[in-house]
Amino acid sequence: MSAGAPGIAARAVGLSKVYGSGDTRVVALDGVSVDFREGEFTAIMGPSGCGKSTLMHCVAGLDSISSGSVRIGTTELATLGDRQLTMLRRDRIGFVFQAFNLLPTLTALENITFPLTIAGRRPDPAWLDRVVSMVGLSQRLGHRPGQLSGGQQQRVAVARALVARPQIIFADEPTGNLDSRAGAEVLGFLRDSVRELGQTVVMVTHDPVAAACADRVLFLSDGRLVDDMARPTAERVLDRMKAFDAEVRTT
Ligand code: ADP
Repeated sequence: MSAGAPGIAARAVGLSKVYGSGDTRVVALDGVSVDFREGEFTAIMGPSGCGKSTLMHCVAGLDSISSGSVRIGTTELATLGDRQLTMLRRDRIGFVFQAFNLLPTLTALENITFPLTIAGRRPDPAWLDRVVSMVGLSQRLGHRPGQLSGGQQQRVAVARALVARPQIIFADEPTGNLDSRAGAEVLGFLRDSVRELGQTVVMVTHDPVAAACADRVLFLSDGRLVDDMARPTAERVLDRMKAFDAEVRTT
């Protein structure tokens, strides 16, 4: 443990990640420093291969880092052993993946409470009710994932991420497998979780409309943080992305 900055849910300083060596060496992240503030919804954007997923995986403790430092709250990830890291991910981080990652034999309710169940904790009933009604699943709790639409399955995944009140939620292309209406709903729930529940959310996306739901958009290019946009609109995000294409054409 070391002192953390107040109001900062996660912090990366000089974060670099290199895959492979020799001819296959790839610098996926090149000295990224960023704060994710509590109660804020941050989107991470940039051209394919720029390092978005790698940044998310490194900050969430899913992947090792090559140099620099990453903290979740006051906890420096490099100081943790494998078991402590697993517990930190289980207890303090929520995940929402593009592929939903629900357990097919469990009901919606069992999926939502699963992370707490394996941690030997009981959900706070009032909080569970609030989360379930926020994502509109009250009538679907006994259904198995195969009996739910894609949008409903992703709502189960959002509720599962929220129910343990994690310090931070990481969402990796959460609308990537959804049609635009279901995607907009899921984004609305993520935004509501920030506005109404004070949750901190970091979302990787390639969709300017999805990014515009965030409070802030970070832009990566070639493993570096190149822009930080507050109060984004889809038009401004799209314009910024077009600028990347123009830069690529002129270099
Ligand atoms: P994005 O999410 O922005 O599309 P990634 O973070 O997936 O980008 O990838 C960044 C770079 O790192 C890319 O050049 C990619 O090919 C490379 N990369 C990602 N994961 C691995 C891996 N496991 N082994 C080798 N290279 C990888």
